[in-house]
Amino acid sequence: MGSGPGGLGEFDIIARFRSARATRPWVLEGIGDDCAVLDMGHGRALLVTTDMLVERVHFRRDVGTPWSLGWKALAVNVSDVAAMGGTPEAAFLAVGFTHDLPLDQLLGFRDGLAACAAAFEVDLLGGDTVSSRQDVVMCLTVLGTAPADEVVHRAGARPGDVVVTGGVVGDSAAGLHVLLAEAEGRRVALAEVDRAALLHAHLEPQPQVALGRALAARRLVRAMIDVSDGVLLDLSHVCDAAGLGAVLEASTLPVSGACRSAAAALGRDPLAWALGGGEDYVLLATVPPERLEEASAVAREEAGAVLHAIGTVSDERGLRLARDGGVAPVEPWGWDHFPSPP
Ligand code: ADP
Ligand code: MG
Repeated sequence: MGSGPGGLGEFDIIARFRSARATRPWVLEGIGDDCAVLDMGHGRALLVTTDMLVERVHFRRDVGTPWSLGWKALAVNVSDVAAMGGTPEAAFLAVGFTHDLPLDQLLGFRDGLAACAAAFEVDLLGGDTVSSRQDVVMCLTVLGTAPADEVVHRAGARPGDVVVTGGVVGDSAAGLHVLLAEAEGRRVALAEVDRAALLHAHLEPQPQVALGRALAARRLVRAMIDVSDGVLLDLSHVCDAAGLGAVLEASTLPVSGACRSAAAALGRDPLAWALGGGEDYVLLATVPPERLEEASAVAREEAGAVLHAIGTVSDERGLRLARDGGVAPVEPWGWDHFPSPP
């Protein structure tokens, strides 16, 4: 149950669109992963992903800048390619702009998008431009490639695998809450360096392409996803895909000092931001325990990333959170467009 059309939730709706099976022999994987995977021949796979941003749902014009919106619109798609172990290659941009949108905002958006495209060597190959009555909408489609036998799927986790993230979680949610508080005219008591780090995490996420590639090429991960909805929800996607569960160790969640400071200043729980805030766009993967050390070394040396072990995959279904000496089941909550009514 959710709050969408007919009482459906976001994932119920996707299920309604899911066809029984793809009919083309070159479709290696259709709906259900971060990208669709198509056979390009010669041992290569084409990865395809699309993500839409809607004004007043994903962003507000008074929070952040047009530049950061352009960056983020592309970056979140690049992140889905990274989650499959791929290299982003090309993008298509479909936009609906309102008549009242100032030219400098449009150009700022263009510049942010171009900066992200340059940073990840993505070519813009097409799109569509329409007018929108009230809200700006934008939809990016990104194509990536990978050696077909190195593509990492959401399914593939095994009991005993170590659950790792490729970086800290919670900073993005903290940054959003700082921005929202400031938009209401509240002053948040936070060191400028912390404020800048949190805003950067929320407004200009850095997809972990090099990390995803390095881990995939050395077959160090069995399952991988990017943290868009939140650690709990995204980990539940990984576990559900394998018919498994996981135990998370709360004390090992990588939460930055800046995130903790913002939580203290705003009277919030940093653990909630880390578990369910979402939009971190770090990779979340499962690693066979005997390869954890090698995976950490490869992450550090080839991608400048730190792997954080945050839990273990188990054959008991569902997620459990170990905290203060006890272990309790935890509902996967996070970003759902049509959440269940409270
Ligand atoms: P992500 O967070 O990685 O972008 P989503 O949770 O949005 O992934 O989507 C999960 C899967 O469902 C993806 O494979 C996506 O392509 C697919 N999907 C989402 N919405 C639709 C839709 N309306 N029709 C068909 N497939 C969809
Ligand atoms: Mg994803």
